[in-house]
Amino acid sequence: MSLKVYNTISRTKEVFVPLTPGKVNMYVCGPTVYDYIHIGNARPLIFFDVVRRYLQASGYDVKYVVNFTDVDDKLIRKAEQIGSTVPEVAERFIEAFFDNTHSLGIKDAIHPRVTENIGEIVAFVQSLVDKGVAYESGGDVYFRTSKFPEYGKVSHQNLDELQFGIRVEVGDLKENPQDFVLWKSAKPGEIFWASPWGNGRPGWHIECSAMVHKYLGETIDIHGGGQDLQFPHHECEVAQTESLTGKPMANYWMHNAYLNINNEKMSKSLANGLTVKDILTKTSPQAVRFLMLSTHYRNPLNFSDDSIKQAESGIERLANSIANVKHRLQNAAADSAEVDAELAKAVEAIDAYFRQKMDDDFNTPDAITAMFELAGEANRYLQHPSVTKASLELVLRQFETIDDVIGILPKQEEVLLDEEVERLIAERNEARKQKNWARADEIRNLLTAQGILLEDTPQGLRWRRK
Ligand SMILES: [Zn+2]
Repeated sequence: MSLKVYNTISRTKEVFVPLTPGKVNMYVCGPTVYDYIHIGNARPLIFFDVVRRYLQASGYDVKYVVNFTDVDDKLIRKAEQIGSTVPEVAERFIEAFFDNTHSLGIKDAIHPRVTENIGEIVAFVQSLVDKGVAYESGGDVYFRTSKFPEYGKVSHQNLDELQFGIRVEVGDLKENPQDFVLWKSAKPGEIFWASPWGNGRPGWHIECSAMVHKYLGETIDIHGGGQDLQFPHHECEVAQTESLTGKPMANYWMHNAYLNINNEKMSKSLANGLTVKDILTKTSPQAVRFLMLSTHYRNPLNFSDDSIKQAESGIERLANSIANVKHRLQNAAADSAEVDAELAKAVEAIDAYFRQKMDDDFNTPDAITAMFELAGEANRYLQHPSVTKASLELVLRQFETIDDVIGILPKQEEVLLDEEVERLIAERNEARKQKNWARADEIRNLLTAQGILLEDTPQGLRWRRK
């Protein structure tokens, strides 16, 4: 069995062949750090974390890059609103991003920022100007889309269709409406960098082309992101990079489908009401992961109280099964090295099923099914009047093998002792008294991540484990 990946450009599942045997270079567009990430942002972050983990579990050496857009219109507006600066806004929300991703068990990638790569971006734009595929106009620089005949290949639209829907803004300095900006001249008072075209800042799309090029190379293996990024963002990335290098930007383009909230398409206001930060005060991070992975990434996913409840109860069933195996293990004879033959066969079949499904374009819902089947086998085996240590350990190892990839099980070593919980609550109370809201929030998130609920009662603050 070999890994197959659905490629947005060919619209088929293709056998995955990396550029360099044993190595995978992978890039996923990261957040614009002007606010807390919302539940819609969490879907690609969790899914591509699983892609990365599965590639690693399959023996690949994975270089994974997720950028931060730390300067753009939204950051500039936010800084104005709250009387802060763009770098301060970025710093604050990058920190919040890591708080959230760490709670969600998302492993760190290489996380370059736009503002650390301005030199590379300017050089990239200059090369496009030199080649005649970009032009300066009134201090802005635009990409000349007519010079890239394949424009539209990611989102499967042709140039005529695209031309039709584009609104021409007043004061637009473009040759053609579908041309897009590479460099924006700075308005008075805005943050800027010097460039051959005057003071300004990069457009959105160019940053990814420049960072992919710098950190991963001319052609990469996998480029991922949400379906909403296919057009215009990924279309523009491809146009920029492929005009410069004459080579494909990525061999496999992967896009996750939309996330709906209570069966409604996610609007901006709905999304803003559902930050990961808020969700994690009520829901365990494992349940969020479980829910995100329980639907195939190319299908729309519904986020609702019900679907979260189902995820919580699914995890509880798995965790109970594991707890029972561990409990029985304490009493199993230390010298019982024999593995039950029937159990061993069942576990092997589950492992094969898990790999076969993940190899088939990362079928995470079936990977979760594999875990439930394992729990079923474990529960059946525990009915035996006598069990062996080796058999129980085999079951636990298989749970770990699957969970190393999907990461939905509560981690045992993370469990805080009661005294530690009490100490953190006391520290949080103190932080609140001193109006240190950041620390108070941090502690609350930490406790939530541990499945600990805080409740304000007339008798004072109480806590309990979920
Ligand atoms: Zn991008």
